[in-house]
Amino acid sequence: MPDLDQPIEYVKGIGPRKAELLKKAFSVTTVGDLILQYPFRYIDKTNITLIKNIKPTDEWVLIKAKVTNFDLIGSAKGRLVAFVTDGSGFMELVWFQGIKWIQPMLAIGKEFLIYGKINVFNNKISLPHPELESNTSQDAISEVLMPIYSTTDPLNRAGFDMKFRRGLMESWMKSITPYQFPEMLPEALINHYKFPARIDAIRQMHFPKNLEEATRAKDRLIFEEFFINQASLMIQKLYRKNNIKGYVFGQIGHYFNTFYKDHLPFELTNAQKRVIKEIRIDSGSGFQLNRLLQGDVGSGKTIVALMASLIAIDNGYQVCIMAPLEILAQQHFRSIKKLIEPLGLKVELLTGSTKKKERVDLLKRLESGDIQLLIGTHAVIEPPVIFKQLGLVIIDEQHRFGVEQRAALWRKATPLPPHVIVMTATPIPRTLAMSVYGDLDVSVIDELPPGRKPIKTLHFNEMKRTEMEMLMHRELAIGRQAFVVFPLIEESEKVDLENLQMGYDRLFISFPPPKYQISVVHGRMKAADKEHEMQRFVKHQTNILVATTVIEVGVDIPNASVMVIENADRFGLSQLHQLRGRVGRGADQSYCILMTGFKLSADGKTRVKTMEETDNGFTIAEVDMQLRGPGNIEGTQQSGSNEFQLANLLTHQAIFKAANDAAMKIITEDPKLEKPQNKGLREFLSTRFRKNKDWSKIG
Ligand code: ADP
Ligand code: MG
Repeated sequence: MPDLDQPIEYVKGIGPRKAELLKKAFSVTTVGDLILQYPFRYIDKTNITLIKNIKPTDEWVLIKAKVTNFDLIGSAKGRLVAFVTDGSGFMELVWFQGIKWIQPMLAIGKEFLIYGKINVFNNKISLPHPELESNTSQDAISEVLMPIYSTTDPLNRAGFDMKFRRGLMESWMKSITPYQFPEMLPEALINHYKFPARIDAIRQMHFPKNLEEATRAKDRLIFEEFFINQASLMIQKLYRKNNIKGYVFGQIGHYFNTFYKDHLPFELTNAQKRVIKEIRIDSGSGFQLNRLLQGDVGSGKTIVALMASLIAIDNGYQVCIMAPLEILAQQHFRSIKKLIEPLGLKVELLTGSTKKKERVDLLKRLESGDIQLLIGTHAVIEPPVIFKQLGLVIIDEQHRFGVEQRAALWRKATPLPPHVIVMTATPIPRTLAMSVYGDLDVSVIDELPPGRKPIKTLHFNEMKRTEMEMLMHRELAIGRQAFVVFPLIEESEKVDLENLQMGYDRLFISFPPPKYQISVVHGRMKAADKEHEMQRFVKHQTNILVATTVIEVGVDIPNASVMVIENADRFGLSQLHQLRGRVGRGADQSYCILMTGFKLSADGKTRVKTMEETDNGFTIAEVDMQLRGPGNIEGTQQSGSNEFQLANLLTHQAIFKAANDAAMKIITEDPKLEKPQNKGLREFLSTRFRKNKDWSKIG
């Protein structure tokens, strides 16, 4: 029996070089890892098909036929064409390459087993580049399907080819034991879905008898991946809610009440009130709060974060707000400072570009408790940052933090972990959120502040550039401001800057000084210069802000009413939605203009059309996932969706739902998995938690 934990390089015939290549290509380091790399397709050489029965819709076929004729057509770089028959019909075989190897094998009247992928052209079926096997006896016909695995050229060249790998798998599949791959799904589930046992499913994935068997095995393994994902998140959540003690924010005090009564710049929406209440209840429960705050662009997440902070401060704790970008941290800092300094609270900003002297002073004041609220980038998780009494962490994020980073944050609060609120920049599709953030409680702000006019979204091509400029003129004339955004498209920053420069020059001619002033912000600028330019725009000293995507997230300038997005088809959907969300924050009509060339890719068209048709961030998130796949959605990379080997949230939604239901039912009925029928699941999960080293914090 193979040792699943054995490093792959010690396997006979592999060695350090191939092991390195395997690690690089597929993150495979052990025997067990390699077993879990399933084939993506099979060769079916179990059945000989009669030529007359081959349909244009078939893919791969095996036939047994005799050569009736063959000919080299064209000159040196011609093609080799052979006709074969099995008595039921004729088939054409074609080669464009390797002719000098194939031709000598052919002889009129000679019989072959012929395997290939059919090609249909003008209703005529042929087999380009088929495999030929001159042994046509029964033992040349295999009993199981042959697996085809993903591979790389270097691996093939190093000798880790399909044949070697199949041989390895064949011997391993014969000798693995149920003890190594214990069943973890409760029997009732297996029976209900007529799933094969776990070990059988693994064997059948590699060497199925037929495609039905492969499909059933695959369905089971997909179900298993979702089921384990959901069950473990549910258990972690339950465990946290019942066991991980948290600071008790027992009272609503002076700061919260004063702010609410005297400084709140507007009436909160019902959704905002509801979410603040959810946070209040959680943080007073004595257990750690861990909440995902989802809300569409412009739904007002910032004020919710701020009021949650005031609850913490009222109870004598410090708060840390973390943002993924410096510019965002600065913006939070500015707007929050303005709102709460009148209360006499101390807010500071810490980022990578905070000057040494300021930093030293700031750290001292943080440790003494003089600073109540720290806003910053990743810089806040660095070791020298010590709080007197950290009680709440708010993460305004694009990327979910890894286990290590989270642990670093947790350690900054003693003796208990801080309460944590995670805010997403744009909504995340529901199933994806469940599979990545299923261990968190979720609050949704599903209501926009009142009085907002829907943004008019227009799609213009170059012919309509003048029309776009006229619209800008009209808006600027009534005192509004405009963003013009350029994508980062080229490999080189230099080309991007040139694009930006060209765009700037064009605008400069259409909107000349002194009547109009233009700000420019791009990624290459020094932080201080960026800040200066942004400030000029914020203070309305400039009318137009030309920028690369640095303004994408979070920037809040209510007086801006036009968002022009150049090369809009180059942006992802959620990015476009984010950008559009930068306008339409006041009561007046706002515009989002998507500028594109004449020709759009199919995806580009879908994105532009979706933007024109809807302004609902949740709908847009779903379409975005359809287009890009679950693995590429912002806010969820680095976790969750990558943990699936076979499962795909997009294509296997029905299985996801079934697995989620099943996990929910089992964990509701038996939260500690103590019933005998859940023993396998309990053992599987505890091994897994131990392996991931996550268990220490979770249980
Ligand atoms: P996001 O959820 O995208 O982070 P923000 O918190 O930046 O949204 O809020 C968007 C804008 O809406 C800000 O200008 C904010 O002041 C304003 N806003 C938030 N809540 C309300 C409300 N209840 N009524 C009116 N305006 C609000
Ligand atoms: Mg925001």
